[in-house]
Amino acid sequence: MKKALALVLAAVLICASVFCFASCGEKKEGAVEDNASKTEVKGTLHMATNAEFEPYEYIKNKKIVGIDPEIAQAICEKLGYELVIDDMKFDSIITAVKSGKADFGMAGMTVTDERKKSVDFTDSYTNTTQVIIVKEDSDIATKKDIKDKHLGVQLGTTGDGIASENSSSIERYNNGADAVLALTQGKIDAVIIDREPARKFVEQNEGLKILDDTFDGEEYAICVKKDSVLTDELNDAIQELTEDGTIAKIINKYIK
Ligand code: GLN
Repeated sequence: MKKALALVLAAVLICASVFCFASCGEKKEGAVEDNASKTEVKGTLHMATNAEFEPYEYIKNKKIVGIDPEIAQAICEKLGYELVIDDMKFDSIITAVKSGKADFGMAGMTVTDERKKSVDFTDSYTNTTQVIIVKEDSDIATKKDIKDKHLGVQLGTTGDGIASENSSSIERYNNGADAVLALTQGKIDAVIIDREPARKFVEQNEGLKILDDTFDGEEYAICVKKDSVLTDELNDAIQELTEDGTIAKIINKYIK
């Protein structure tokens, strides 16, 4: 009888420990799965931009919207990052990326050799040209005519570079809108700026036009801290989103 009781007890103990082992195991596996699904979001990426550059980045209903934020969001979703956008002056973006304050910069930013000394660039995701905005009745008809004119640009942009090669009389503004306002007020003779923002400014302000004569093509890309592994990750995503048509779709949504 005692023996039988001992056997039953032993069996109960064995069952209990097997059950515990199994369920503990399950729990552990479950926890691992939980972690795995959480690590899908690898962390947060801070994007430095200047949201004064419609249609690439601008503020609408208190939100930063545009081509770049949408492409950045698609890239982050693909790579498993959460995107946070930090708005700043265009001129501060490279410094923010260089210092690690931002993980990448995306702001209709043209790849230039000068900038490549400070940051790396991903592959290009789209392109542009610098154009000249003048008043409809301006005597400036081609790019030759901007020589020594009073030019307005956005500080630190490629347009600023072109203006500097052509004139010593330059007004540098923190954003394109201020430059265009000065043009409408007759304070400057022309504004040199990227094609699509120029089209928006001409749409939004009466009496302005864009000259047909434009400058050389430029490539837009994302800037990243030098030698960061993030550049390769971003490039993989850019390639996939180019191939599957996502990037073209986003651009076509904003540029008709
Ligand atoms: N594409 C120009 C540059 O990179 C202007 C960019 C901008 O003003 N956001 O300098």
